[in-house]
Amino acid sequence: MKQRKRRRTGPYEPQTITRAVTHIRLEAANAGKLTALDDLAQVYLALCQQYVTLFCTEERPNKLRAPLFATPLSERWQRVAIQQAAGIARSWRTNRAQAYQDYVENLLAYHEQQAEGAPDAEAEEPTWKEWNVPTLRQTCIQANANVAILEPPQDSTFDYWLTISTLEFRKQLLIPVKLADYHREALKGKAINSSVTLNKRGDGWWLTLSYDQVIAVHTEPSAPVVGVDVGIANFVTTSDGRHYGTFHGKLRERQKRDREKRRRKAKLRKCLEKKGVKKLPSTSSKSGRRLARHVRQEINRAVNQCFAEHEGCQFAYEHLSVATMKYKARAMNAYLYASNLGHIPKQIAWNAAKRGVAAIRVKSAYTSQECSVCHYTARANRPNQQTFCCRVCGHSAHADLNAAINVKRRLGDEELRACKNRKAIKALLLRRHQEWKKQHGWP
Ligand SMILES: [Zn+2]
Repeated sequence: MKQRKRRRTGPYEPQTITRAVTHIRLEAANAGKLTALDDLAQVYLALCQQYVTLFCTEERPNKLRAPLFATPLSERWQRVAIQQAAGIARSWRTNRAQAYQDYVENLLAYHEQQAEGAPDAEAEEPTWKEWNVPTLRQTCIQANANVAILEPPQDSTFDYWLTISTLEFRKQLLIPVKLADYHREALKGKAINSSVTLNKRGDGWWLTLSYDQVIAVHTEPSAPVVGVDVGIANFVTTSDGRHYGTFHGKLRERQKRDREKRRRKAKLRKCLEKKGVKKLPSTSSKSGRRLARHVRQEINRAVNQCFAEHEGCQFAYEHLSVATMKYKARAMNAYLYASNLGHIPKQIAWNAAKRGVAAIRVKSAYTSQECSVCHYTARANRPNQQTFCCRVCGHSAHADLNAAINVKRRLGDEELRACKNRKAIKALLLRRHQEWKKQHGWP
């Protein structure tokens, strides 16, 4: 089962989550029917791609845009394509804008570091590479009730009939849908959403159904706050000093082995290519995908355990940007680590949503460099990856714990939340440091 969380007004408001029931196979009871679906999909995908390109380059994404391109599809189908394309383009634009923002922040941090005169040996000036417009490679149709209707059958041979409009005027496809027992269990007593997703993979057509669930948040705004730091050595470190999960040890060993394997495969490919062999072994690695899945499972387990051990609390966690992720993943394979790091905050948000717990994102700038006692903020406070040692007050702690405490304090810190950029945050932290010094009688 996959899940999706919806935007809402505040962290203590009820939350609607959409749960998807995936992997419902469309029986090829009548091969001709699925061929008609193939034909439709081909035309649909091409049209959808045209609108994706339009919405990524020339126009702002608009779900309700009037049809523009010529196509044999009915107007209803065109509207579905436009809507899906607008969604794809919108998230592409958001991600691109976020990545650009990260790049700018990264560049600022880089220059800051240069100006401080303590450049990192590994540091390189960040560069920006413009993004390509997304290409729709997989056949995925997000259909609504205007083009595809799910209905219970008259007799009980199947669970539903799926009626889909086709390329031919007024000719509809009737496809029987048979659920597995666990699908039936998941959908029992639920009101299924009218929009359905159709996916074509190598071995056939699959249907995804979904339903909405409203979950009340039972956390009071006054509940104790747990700060969460996200990292490599410890997936999750809480402000009360507990650690959950790690990339090191077994996972890292597996990753190393996988990289070796891939390198050998690439070599073999080159060798065969030279010899003029036509059919080359694939470079995509099954074990790599398995490993990524395994990492996600480990992350899920760590986050689950963290929530289970902090019942009655609310959570503060960092708004991780790609830049911070890369910074945190400074070790080899930063990209690989970074992509997995990104799964942790997502999992925190999801766990909070389904448990009805408040989890609030806070700004991440300088959480790893700020002293949690005197607020002195400097790169020099981090003599190495796992140690924090303040150059002014001498406070020393596990670096992840120091960061988790900073994250905890940022929940409800309106002054910090109002800061527009890194520079403003740094100025605020240094001002707080000066105040701390005055209060404690430092020169
Ligand atoms: Zn200090």
